[in-house]
Amino acid sequence: MKDARILGVRVDCLDMGSTLERIERFVDEGGPHLVATVNPEFVMRAQKDREFARVIASAELCLPDGVGVVWAARRQGCDVRQPVAGVDLVQPLAAMCARRGFRLFLLGAAPGVAGALAAKLRSGNPTLEVASHPGAPDPSQDAETLKLIHEHGTQVLLVAYGAPAQELWIDRLRNRLGVAVAVGVGGAFDYLTGRVPRAPAWMRRAGLEWLHRLGRQPWRIRRMAVLPVYAIKVLRNDT
Ligand code: UDP
Repeated sequence: MKDARILGVRVDCLDMGSTLERIERFVDEGGPHLVATVNPEFVMRAQKDREFARVIASAELCLPDGVGVVWAARRQGCDVRQPVAGVDLVQPLAAMCARRGFRLFLLGAAPGVAGALAAKLRSGNPTLEVASHPGAPDPSQDAETLKLIHEHGTQVLLVAYGAPAQELWIDRLRNRLGVAVAVGVGGAFDYLTGRVPRAPAWMRRAGLEWLHRLGRQPWRIRRMAVLPVYAIKVLRNDT
């Protein structure tokens, strides 16, 4: 599998279909495998947060999440056309789990959100075995969360605590999770349950989802302030 290095962070050159195939293979092999959805904010954080950089480097898959990463990866010859974002992965992944009989667990987001998404996924995939829990990244919650994950016999775990909390949480508990695959999916549960509206299709196609996010959640400006710096660094240094 070809990959790109964006300011030192690995990004795998995958589309949605090949991502699902890889995840299916991970479950067949047994775990634990970490899947990270790498966006420009990840890349910038990894520049100064060594612990986060180490965890991302240890991921078995680093998906190109967002147009900023696709753009940088294509500059290095990566044949990726569309981002593979966590939010777009959840539904096809649930369908694959239903088809293969893989047990899915949705962890994170505000109380009620993961449960609502589980109900929605179940109604689209009647054979899907899916459980959910809001949980929290705080170690005081670990015992209860692990118990629920184990009781469900979880094979595929989606963690929606936002970055970097979700990746650090998965890394901290990696060998106790007992799952084959753990994926950090950020705010995906909020989008998929309609808590936070997604950008219209034309904006997504034009690569402007970030602008829509900013309009809805202006507090993101502080996090997005790194994006011009990201673009300049990528243009200066394609390694
Ligand atoms: N969240 C959580 N527990 C926490 C902090 C955050 O479940 O202690 C959830 C929050 O409800 C939201 C997600 O983590 O669903 C973070 O979403 P955001 O859009 O900020 O993540 P991004 O996609 O930008 O990484």
